[in-house]
Amino acid sequence: MNENERDARERICRLGAQFAARGLAPGTSGNISVRIERGWLMTPTNASLGALEPASLSVLDAAGMHVDGNAPTKEHVLHRAVYAARADCGAVVHLHSTHAVGYACLEGLDPGDVFPPMTPYAIMRLGRVALVPYARPGDSRLAAFVAEAAHEHHALLLANHGPVVAGTTLDSAAAAIEELEESAKLYFLMQGHRVRHLTQAQVSELRAAFVS
Ligand SMILES: [Zn+2]
Repeated sequence: MNENERDARERICRLGAQFAARGLAPGTSGNISVRIERGWLMTPTNASLGALEPASLSVLDAAGMHVDGNAPTKEHVLHRAVYAARADCGAVVHLHSTHAVGYACLEGLDPGDVFPPMTPYAIMRLGRVALVPYARPGDSRLAAFVAEAAHEHHALLLANHGPVVAGTTLDSAAAAIEELEESAKLYFLMQGHRVRHLTQAQVSELRAAFVS
C-alpha cells in the first residue's frame, strides 16, 4: 500500500466520523469512496460511518471487482457508474441524510434541476442537481440511471432514496453533499414563507462565473 492509499483510508474514516457526528449517516446508511491507483477504496457493507477502520475498507479494482478488505456494500455499483461516467471524478459520497431523502420523495421535481434557485452557494457547489428515477437498491437499472445522469451532473438525487455526489477530491464531494442536504433543509424550513428566489439573470451570472 502506498502513501496516497494510506492517506485516503484515513480521510475516508475521518469524513465518516464527521457525517455521523452531524447526524447525516443514520444507522449503517451512507457510503464513501475514493479513487486510488489500483481502483477505488470504499466503505464496507453494514458499517456505521461513525466507526470505520482504515484497515477494513473495501478495495475494488477499476472494473468494480472486490479485491481486498471487507466486502463492499451492494451500493458500490452506484459508485462504479459515477466513476465510469466522469473521468475527472476522484471521490463519490452517498448519504441517506434526512432532509435530502425527504426532498427526494417530493412530487413534481424538475428531473434536470431539482432545486429552486435560493442561494448562490447551492448553485456554485452543486450546479444543476439531477433526479434519478426510482429503482430498487441493488437493481442494475438504478446503476444504469445513475450512469446516464452522471455524464451531465456531478450531484444526483435518487428518487425516494437520497443524494449521490461526485467530486474531483473527497473534500469537494463532501462539501457539495452537505450543501445539498442544507438546500433540502432550507426548502422545508421556508415552507409557508414567501421566498425571494434568485432571478434567471442572477443564476446565469453565477453559472458563468463558477460552474464549468
Ligand atoms: Zn443508499
